[in-house]
Amino acid sequence: MRVKEPGGAYEWYVPTNALRLATPQERRAAGLPGTVSASPIGCTECADLEAARREAVKGGDTKAITDATVAVRSHFRWAHLMPQRG
Ligand SMILES: [Zn+2]
Repeated sequence: MRVKEPGGAYEWYVPTNALRLATPQERRAAGLPGTVSASPIGCTECADLEAARREAVKGGDTKAITDATVAVRSHFRWAHLMPQRG
């Protein structure tokens, strides 16, 4: 199987039986999304993004509201629905 570092340019071959999934620590160290928690319960990033969205709604700026809503949804999708994709 060909593998590559996240964002890296080099590829190399590794026998599939030598591969394993990265640990949460390794994923975090590599800066990959989806490492906070697979569960949205108690996720501080969800809480922060939702608070930012509520602030945007209060401010009434349509673009800010849209951006904040997109931020909440994309964080949710990548961190909680498909964390294994990175
Ligand atoms: Zn979250």
